[in-house]
Amino acid sequence: MKIGGDMYKRFKSHLQSQLNDIESAGLYKNERTLISPQGPEITTSDGKKVLNFCANNYLGLSNSPELKEVVRKTLDSHGYGMSSVRFICGTTDIHKELEQRISDFFGTEDTILYAAAFDANGGVFEPLLTNEDAIISDSLNHASIIDGVRLCKAKRFRYTNADLEDLEDQLIQAQPQRFRIIVTDGVFSMDGNVAPLDKIMELAEKYDAMVMVDESHSAGVIGETGRGTTEHFNLLGKVEIISGTLGKAFGGAIGGFTTGKKEIIDMLRQRSRPYLFSNSIPPMVAAAGVEVMKMMEAGTDRLATLRENTRYFTDKMIENGFDIKPTQSAICAVMLYDAKVAQEMAARLLEEGIYVIGFYFPVVPQGEARIRVQISAAHKKEHLDKAIEAFQKVANDMK
Ligand SMILES: *Cc1c(COP(=O)(O)O)cnc(C)c1O
Repeated sequence: MKIGGDMYKRFKSHLQSQLNDIESAGLYKNERTLISPQGPEITTSDGKKVLNFCANNYLGLSNSPELKEVVRKTLDSHGYGMSSVRFICGTTDIHKELEQRISDFFGTEDTILYAAAFDANGGVFEPLLTNEDAIISDSLNHASIIDGVRLCKAKRFRYTNADLEDLEDQLIQAQPQRFRIIVTDGVFSMDGNVAPLDKIMELAEKYDAMVMVDESHSAGVIGETGRGTTEHFNLLGKVEIISGTLGKAFGGAIGGFTTGKKEIIDMLRQRSRPYLFSNSIPPMVAAAGVEVMKMMEAGTDRLATLRENTRYFTDKMIENGFDIKPTQSAICAVMLYDAKVAQEMAARLLEEGIYVIGFYFPVVPQGEARIRVQISAAHKKEHLDKAIEAFQKVANDMK
């Protein structure tokens, strides 16, 4: 029997037609190339300088001189890469110190580091739960939580974003399962709203469930001293599991973590696949993480600036007649409702030197198109003023 042919030829045309569909739906993602460090002002490869309002650089640490200094020193003392997973020969004193400091910061019992929060969430459920158990997940949870849930055999329940009545319904349905865990983002990235963790905890108690919060967008941003949603609701140390990233407020490089109850973290170290089978984060990145934790413990100046900037921006925009979703974080959704308007406005703002992103269906619900503005402690008043003026000018031009 002879089976001939050129498989890739057929596969290629299959991919090409899918890519064409993505493009004609206006969903094709092009990457803008930066040739400067990440910061409030960036330079793109065409030499254009723009003000950046779409980074997760909440505390302005992406290009921090203090962190760069720590990284340089650690490069000399501990080298560049670990060439190993943690449990073989990929653990340094710095990795251990960072885990301890993260636990201290969140008031938790133990912490496990990952290469990214995506891995932390991808590797958290499968080692802990089986088909006898239940995961009750917010409908707007991050893709990494969704993937983590998919990798686990536990029964899945989904509740409408931050909807406590629906959560209660799902908890009732999940009663026959052995163990239950409710999972939510701390801050949702499209609206900037905070999960109602106080109420979620009440329901968890009433219906006998555990709680996991992903603090990726909220750690360093929410709570009086930046300890996230659990601090915001006075629940420090109360939830069973917290996941988070070093890639947003906490420096912006790379790395993620899961922190919480001792036995849970212990089991993750034994069984969590992205931890067991993926490289250890570089010592210099861990050292920068340690430095960030020290900064967070030392004071709240950056956080205060971030809050002041966010308030200034939203107040001025509302004064100017823009429709801003109420935010409790550093994410400001400028509501435009119409996808075309959001797209065109973002393009025109870029021409004015303001880099923001328009979001529309299917990333947000139909008819809820918006421009998402992300504020940073590194923004100066003049940056904010320039953005506010540009929004005003473009809105006038378009209407
Ligand atoms: C950004 C984000 C992640 C992924 O973080 P990485 O460390 O970049 O993988 C996970 N969860 C939430 C809620 C996020 O916002």
